[in-house]
Amino acid sequence: MNTKPSILIIYTGGTIGMQRDESGTLIPFDFNSIEKEFPAVRHLNVHIDVHKMPPIDSSNVTPALWRELAHTVRDNYDKYNGFVILHGTDTMSYTASALSFMFENLQKPVVFTGSQIPMGIMRTDGRENLITAIEIAAASRNGYPIVPEVCLYFQNKLFRANRTSKLSAEALNAFDSRNYPPLAEVGVNINYNTAYIHYEDGWFEGQFNPEPLQVTEGFDTNVVILKIFPGISETTLKAVLSVDGLRGVILETFGTGNAPTADWFINLLSETIARGVTIVNVTQCVGGGVAMELYETGKRLQQAGVISGHDMTTEAAVTKLMLLLGNCPQKDGVAQSMLISKNGEFGS
Ligand code: ASP
Repeated sequence: MNTKPSILIIYTGGTIGMQRDESGTLIPFDFNSIEKEFPAVRHLNVHIDVHKMPPIDSSNVTPALWRELAHTVRDNYDKYNGFVILHGTDTMSYTASALSFMFENLQKPVVFTGSQIPMGIMRTDGRENLITAIEIAAASRNGYPIVPEVCLYFQNKLFRANRTSKLSAEALNAFDSRNYPPLAEVGVNINYNTAYIHYEDGWFEGQFNPEPLQVTEGFDTNVVILKIFPGISETTLKAVLSVDGLRGVILETFGTGNAPTADWFINLLSETIARGVTIVNVTQCVGGGVAMELYETGKRLQQAGVISGHDMTTEAAVTKLMLLLGNCPQKDGVAQSMLISKNGEFGS
């Protein structure tokens, strides 16, 4: 009997997929020959298949790719124990957050990874990222996956996907999750922080009800991320908030959710909300979150009808909002769902 776990690698492009040809030019890596290129993979005792998408730089990602990825996982869900998605690092946190909101009843690992240095360069970080991501996607206890979540593995740390941001364009540990502890830390061993991984009750005893995986799709892209700054003008704010068809705003504020208290600023926000636009407050800081009741400058936003994004990342807030707007015709429904943590995207 073949007891090897089966993993599907889904390749979308990005730096990890690059290698040098004989002339030294960077060309896409052939992941179909992964076992030939990295004999180490064979020692993992894992069966690997590869699903290749047309490789793109992740700056070109749109919700169409999120849909295709979610469908690929859903259509292959019963055949594999886990999934590894290779993605460019630039927008990986957006895609990984989006997928975390699209899946209902996910009970298998979906591990995103990529690299800062191309696979074909000696010093690549891609090899370790890929091999460990495969190992994590295949890891089980009593036959049940150890990380049944959408997550992101990079440079020795596994994070909950919708808690991550790319924080460095240079460092090999490019990603972090400042408001939620890593789900695993990798040294000689892979140490899983099971206290922070989401499990159904009785998970490792198999006492949960396996429900079929479902995918919610339909992102409404009529949203804007608005980062305020000292000196932001009434004309600019007015122009942004009066964009035709606008339905949602992620307002990146100072500190614990503070913004100017000038009447023109607050009035513009109130008028926009009265028009039916959902405005969500997230902090510009990389750590911590919004507590609008703390300062007068936050309270005014709350009174104007701005809702709290708690300690969500901008990536999680904008993808969650787009999906809710695409699926919820009522503004109140969007606001209520925004305030409920769906997949551990805010809170502890
Ligand atoms: N521009 C690349 C991308 O995001 C960068 C990378 O993969 O590291 O596709």
